[in-house]
Amino acid sequence: MQRKSTKDSNKQNSRTRPKPTSGDLTRRVNEWMRGRNGADALANAFVWVSLLLYIVNIFARLTWLWWLALACLAYAWWRMTSRNIQARTRENEAFLSHTGTLRPWLQDTSAAWREARAYKHLKCPKCGQRVRVPRHKGKLLVSCPKCHTKFDARS
Ligand SMILES: [Zn+2]
Repeated sequence: MQRKSTKDSNKQNSRTRPKPTSGDLTRRVNEWMRGRNGADALANAFVWVSLLLYIVNIFARLTWLWWLALACLAYAWWRMTSRNIQARTRENEAFLSHTGTLRPWLQDTSAAWREARAYKHLKCPKCGQRVRVPRHKGKLLVSCPKCHTKFDARS
């Protein structure tokens, strides 16, 4: 009878402290991330900048550069874990609109290079709409797809 009771208490003990499994960990991370900003384009950019600075600093060996790289990484982490999602979304959208023309180069450099060689990007003089025309076609009369203004362009 004595033995049985100790066995029971052991069972109770193991039940109150379950071993964490990997699925359990994922669930806990998800719960922790709920209501937080997560990794957005701006946070990713700062991770890449930080990584780049660390690589440069392998050769440069500058203390301030090391701190700058750490600060970039800290900022990225702060963005991911921030609970003020509205403000972070605003910043991310501002970032995306400022890097609009740069983004294709960052995402796929060779595709962006082919695109830049094959097409010329123009802006409609009236509404500012971006218009793409093929290169090496001489003088073209371009019609804006948005406001239908016609304008001359050298391709
Ligand atoms: Zn236009």
